[in-house]
Amino acid sequence: MSDHKKKIPVEEGLWTNPSSPGDKPQLIGSKCRSCGEIFFPRKKKIICIHCQQRKLEDVKLSGKGKIASFTVVERAPAGGYYKGPVPYAYGAVNMLENVQLFTLFTGNLDDLRVGMDVEMVIDKLSNDVEGNEIVTYQFAPI
Ligand SMILES: [Zn+2]
Repeated sequence: MSDHKKKIPVEEGLWTNPSSPGDKPQLIGSKCRSCGEIFFPRKKKIICIHCQQRKLEDVKLSGKGKIASFTVVERAPAGGYYKGPVPYAYGAVNMLENVQLFTLFTGNLDDLRVGMDVEMVIDKLSNDVEGNEIVTYQFAPI
């Protein structure tokens, strides 16, 4: 069977890996301890671009928000770079923490509506040449 295939994050450090079953992965952002501004993905530099204080620290996001905008892409972009399923939906989510991030959506794309409550899930993006699953954060209707 294919149980030797691995799930590989599209990029390390975007979300937490749950240490026990029942725990959900959480997106990791940066929060400024001075002005409260939150950034995602997290900043590698420690200076807040909002208030210029050196007070950024990692913060785990709730994973919940509302769809701000989205578009459904019916055809794969030219060039063969994109290897995921088509159609796919891509757009912006306003998180509960008052930060906006861009994401793929998963689930029934016909159900997506602006203003809809959505939740972060880790889901398949594509397969690599060895058949491993490349996974990334996506948002699905709650
Ligand atoms: Zn700040």
